[in-house]
Amino acid sequence: MKNAREYHKEVFDLMQKHHDWFQSCIPLIASENIPSLAVREALISDFGNRYAEGWPGERIYAGCTYIDQVELMCMDLAKKLYEAEFVDVRPISGVVANLVVYAAFAEPGDLMLALSIPSGGHISTGKKRLGGTAGAIRGLDVEYLPLNEKELNIDVDETIKRTDAFVKEGKIPKLVMFGGSVLPFPHPIKELEEYFHNLETTIVFDAAHVAGLIAGKKFQDPLSEGADVMTVSTHKTMPGPQHGMVVSWEKYADKIKRATFPGLVSNHHLHNVAGVVIALAEMLEFGEEYASQIVRNSKALGQALYERGLNVLAENKGFTESHVLLIDITKHGDGGTLEEQLEKANIILNRNLLPWDIREGRHFMHPGGIRLGTSEVTRLGMKENDMNDIADFIKRIILDKETPETVIKDITEFRKDFQNVHYCFEKATEAYSYIKLVNQ
Ligand SMILES: *Cc1c(COP(=O)(O)O)cnc(C)c1O
Repeated sequence: MKNAREYHKEVFDLMQKHHDWFQSCIPLIASENIPSLAVREALISDFGNRYAEGWPGERIYAGCTYIDQVELMCMDLAKKLYEAEFVDVRPISGVVANLVVYAAFAEPGDLMLALSIPSGGHISTGKKRLGGTAGAIRGLDVEYLPLNEKELNIDVDETIKRTDAFVKEGKIPKLVMFGGSVLPFPHPIKELEEYFHNLETTIVFDAAHVAGLIAGKKFQDPLSEGADVMTVSTHKTMPGPQHGMVVSWEKYADKIKRATFPGLVSNHHLHNVAGVVIALAEMLEFGEEYASQIVRNSKALGQALYERGLNVLAENKGFTESHVLLIDITKHGDGGTLEEQLEKANIILNRNLLPWDIREGRHFMHPGGIRLGTSEVTRLGMKENDMNDIADFIKRIILDKETPETVIKDITEFRKDFQNVHYCFEKATEAYSYIKLVNQ
């Protein structure tokens, strides 16, 4: 058993080791990113020790003079970037933002249509039987939107057919949830907007993954296409701290506000709200350039991996229109084992169910796919050419079965040129530097 001082010391050792490790990794997790040092400074400010509750100007707590100004700026910036009338920046994560929407727009027992997890949906939109937030926590009755497996997109005709059948049984969907965790192509909101609005179904877009691409005007614009409300995670393609937002129209403001507070948050992580302001300002200044480079990189990485013999899905459509790629690796092993081997070589990505995996008897621990995203490597300054190097490293592990040790050496060398955060205002930008306040 360690004594208190040993625990105290060891946690710092472990955090520093993590930072050192990430300086020589290739970070390809599609839901992750690296924030600027400016954002990280916000996270260690005193804002993180305070309470506010309620709306700026109508707080439950004293001491919010400056916090209120920051939160108002956050809302202004988000409204500007998303051309929206109303933004609630208090949900502390994407899951909480989705819960806010369920609470504001639906009652337990109501029907929601959403993608299944193998089709690219997320646990927060999942069925009760699977422990998903929508089903198990809010009590929604979740039915699946049909995926066209070749197109990796929602099938419009089949959606109408399936929904018509529910309507015939007297089950009118209260919510339809577009968006997801594997979202390579824009979802057909425009095509289905009139159909769902005729049923008085609230159209939601879960932009957790693509919020940065939307802010950079390089993906579909869900609100202008007919979505009533959009939920955001601020740390996936958006390079902010971990937080959430609900973006919508003025006519829904009151019910969203009430669902957030007193419904779902007490303190709302005010240091993160300050960090989000910084990330949104970065997006306003550099977002279009950043988002377009993310998409160029993911297309280039898809092409490079495909040329090296990997079955990157949706080749017929240029692999992706976002930051994300899905690869069927069943010829070379399973997603779980390969994820582990790649991690040993400092390539960090994750295993992923393919749309047909469950049907073919595969399990989430050992699925048929891996998922890659290019947000973080783009943030580190990588361009299309560098995607060829990454594809080579991945090939050496998956196809050539080289030992991780030999590949790590080359990755460490490759990474030396990419130690800084790009698309931010600061000059001092070392990406994974450990910010030390205390001498042990
Ligand atoms: C990541 C994700 C979320 C959850 O976001 P958190 O900020 O991690 O809570 C919600 N929906 C989708 C589609 C996601 O991919």
